[in-house]
Amino acid sequence: MADTDRPIHPVRLTLTHDDILTLHGPTQAACPLVLDSPHSGQRLPADFGSVLTPAELREGEDCFIDTLYRPAAARGIPLLAAEFPRTYLDANRHAGDVDLELIDGHWPHEHRPSGKARIGKALIWRTLDDGRPIYARRLAVDEVQRRIERYHAPYHRGLQTLLADAHQRFGVVYHINCHSMNAVSGTMGEGGAGRARADFVLGDRDGTTCEPAFTEFVRATLAGWGYDVKVNDPFKGVELVKAYSNPAAGRHSLQLEINKRLYMDEATLQPHEGFEPLQRRLMQLLDGIVDTFAKA
Ligand SMILES: [Zn+2]
Repeated sequence: MADTDRPIHPVRLTLTHDDILTLHGPTQAACPLVLDSPHSGQRLPADFGSVLTPAELREGEDCFIDTLYRPAAARGIPLLAAEFPRTYLDANRHAGDVDLELIDGHWPHEHRPSGKARIGKALIWRTLDDGRPIYARRLAVDEVQRRIERYHAPYHRGLQTLLADAHQRFGVVYHINCHSMNAVSGTMGEGGAGRARADFVLGDRDGTTCEPAFTEFVRATLAGWGYDVKVNDPFKGVELVKAYSNPAAGRHSLQLEINKRLYMDEATLQPHEGFEPLQRRLMQLLDGIVDTFAKA
């Protein structure tokens, strides 16, 4: 059975506000639009056990993506954000996408490789973008299981619940999976090293995670403002746009990658003068999506 055919049962949403995730905005969407930011967290769990410094580990982070989209909350649009770092556990992976090279001994649970282990970026990252190892050890099976149960499961449950609730009430739901990308790819980057990225990259897994009109609306809106926009190149979207989408049933998910150079200095990791203008554009984009696709 395809992931997209998996039945979704709405359940009551209980979200914690500790080191795992934060929900900005309402638990019930005011209109059928839901956002999530799986990679902007920077609270390092005590049991990380990495050989890299906290600053080095931030290289995997989609810095400030939760802050950029936060004004959406005042519009009644929920924004789910991971608080844990992507280098600790990547919520945008299937729970079975375990990198066996990183495991001490035999992995006895489900193994669903996506191919990302090859570039060190499976469920638990092995290396940074430049190939630097994150650990000087292998991880115990129990340790990986604990990360899945404590971080991956609640994140997915939270997102699935927000989407299912909106879909149940409105008969349709649009989901934007929010990310940012480095201006230039590293040695372990998707598509090879040293490639300058576009301003935006939209990913709908080659037209399978949302209706084509949705991707085209977002592309045309951004391009109309003068941005350089690519679709499914080099990022097609991974687990979070795949897991809960089913366009034929009115469940539409789109990955939106923003080039970090539009809003921050990648050397100092500080926002720059482009932050607020970009934030205003993103809110205009969301307003356009609500008007066109996701009216209450
Ligand atoms: Zn990301």
